[in-house]
Amino acid sequence: MAYLLNNRAAELHRQSVVVDAHCDTLTVLLEQNRRLGQLAGHGHLDLPRLKMGGVKVQFFAAFISPEFKYAPLKRVLELIDNFLLEIAENPKDVHHVKNLDDIYQACHTGKVAALLTVEGGECLEGSTGVLRQLYTLGVRGLTLTWNNRNELGNGVKAREINGLTTFGLTVVEELNRLGALIDVSHLSEEGYWDVLQYSRQPVIASHSNCKALCNHPRNLSDEQIRALAENGGVMGITFVPDFLGGEKPSLKEVLNHIDHAVAVGGVDCVGLGSDFDGTEKLALGLEDCSLWPTITGHLIDRGYRDGEVEKIIGGNFLRVIGQVLK
Ligand SMILES: [Zn+2]
Repeated sequence: MAYLLNNRAAELHRQSVVVDAHCDTLTVLLEQNRRLGQLAGHGHLDLPRLKMGGVKVQFFAAFISPEFKYAPLKRVLELIDNFLLEIAENPKDVHHVKNLDDIYQACHTGKVAALLTVEGGECLEGSTGVLRQLYTLGVRGLTLTWNNRNELGNGVKAREINGLTTFGLTVVEELNRLGALIDVSHLSEEGYWDVLQYSRQPVIASHSNCKALCNHPRNLSDEQIRALAENGGVMGITFVPDFLGGEKPSLKEVLNHIDHAVAVGGVDCVGLGSDFDGTEKLALGLEDCSLWPTITGHLIDRGYRDGEVEKIIGGNFLRVIGQVLK
């Protein structure tokens, strides 16, 4: 059923800097015959649909799938190369942003601000020199691990109970120094606590939900959410059905996770990280990135004030970007 946005919601959405803290579109652009600038008949995200959805800032993750574990650096460079080619091909519609000023400039000129991140620290191959060179290429965030163990620490599916390695701690320090986002989604709980202890900057969980509503290892416990709030960080509620819970999760469950995270950590620690193009199934009602305005409409319906809605749909991520990126 189509959801009709009222004027207030449409106006608020249009004025807000809407931020999506995670998508896996770079993988499908490289592997399938899709172009960022062309409206695709399938998949979840492209520039025309981002504009329809009023998305101002899109994180693009270069994801190191386990199948590339023997040549992860080559994989990340190929993903970044293709990202840069796509950006160069669409100069009127998208801008590769490296800090908050770039984002504001993109917004003023009606371009989507594309923030490049890497998902899976194994591509560093144990070298902070590689990290610095990725930064030079314009990477401004690192999801330290995927689900498995790497040189930085353990992901949520690693068998041993362990936090960050010595190298992982060095990477945290270097990300702080460079001015790039530290992303704790996928990280083991022990690793999570290590990052919160050692990072001198607010951190993000780009695409994780609430464990209290859906008991999945990828989700954050109330204790973790409270600690993230204290750190000044932000979590991106994600649209992946497995992390939402329920029979046929829909936009309603996404809103329930937002409500819970706000109740536990406060309105300053909650944002959104769709995982578009990173999952086969999505929450009903959020099948692609053109549907973002419906979230704004429903947040207003749930009684959030305008300022609170603005924070949740992007303002909180923007705050952390402003604090961390140089
Ligand atoms: Zn992920």
